[in-house]
Amino acid sequence: MAHRRKPLAAALALNTVVLVVELAGGIQASSLSLVVDGVHNVSDEVALGFLVLAYALRAGLSGRLLRAANLFNSIGLLAISGLLLWRVLERLSNPVPVLGLVPVIAGIVGAVGNWGVARVLREPAREDAAIRLAYVHNLGDTLLSLAPVAAGILVIASGQAIFDSIVALVIAVAIVVTTVRSVVGSHRELLWADNVVCGHR
Ligand SMILES: [Zn+2]
Repeated sequence: MAHRRKPLAAALALNTVVLVVELAGGIQASSLSLVVDGVHNVSDEVALGFLVLAYALRAGLSGRLLRAANLFNSIGLLAISGLLLWRVLERLSNPVPVLGLVPVIAGIVGAVGNWGVARVLREPAREDAAIRLAYVHNLGDTLLSLAPVAAGILVIASGQAIFDSIVALVIAVAIVVTTVRSVVGSHRELLWADNVVCGHR
């Protein structure tokens, strides 16, 4: 499994850069679109962390443990997204100035970083279903990270900070919908665990 450990560790490192840049930038610039995308990447970090752990431990992780971890991760993401949605709605009725350049730059870092995560996972994804899901997920995240870029451009062009809140609302709703769908529909992501365990046998 050593050949999968390396790309997974690289993916984790890249994702760490993304979430730090997005959260730090988001808080600094009062950009909720960045904060929402950053929080989503924290949840991805947990999922990637468990994948790394599954391949790093000689005995692997049990399928049941990984399934439970993924489920709790999804529930945590939903809870935080709910809180953030509340903040976004508050912000919509009471806009706060947003430094538009920050979500543009941090969003580009996020898109490049998520693309990098997908890129390093592309090879091992060919022969590993669990890694393939992470690969496909991060291709989608590359697009999602471009949303704060759009928010920043709209804020700069219009001088209206409310565009950041509108985009944050769209991102938060997209995260909630995809997460609920994956949990309720017993999405294949919840079966990551079985694939990881199979890989160890
Ligand atoms: Zn993600």
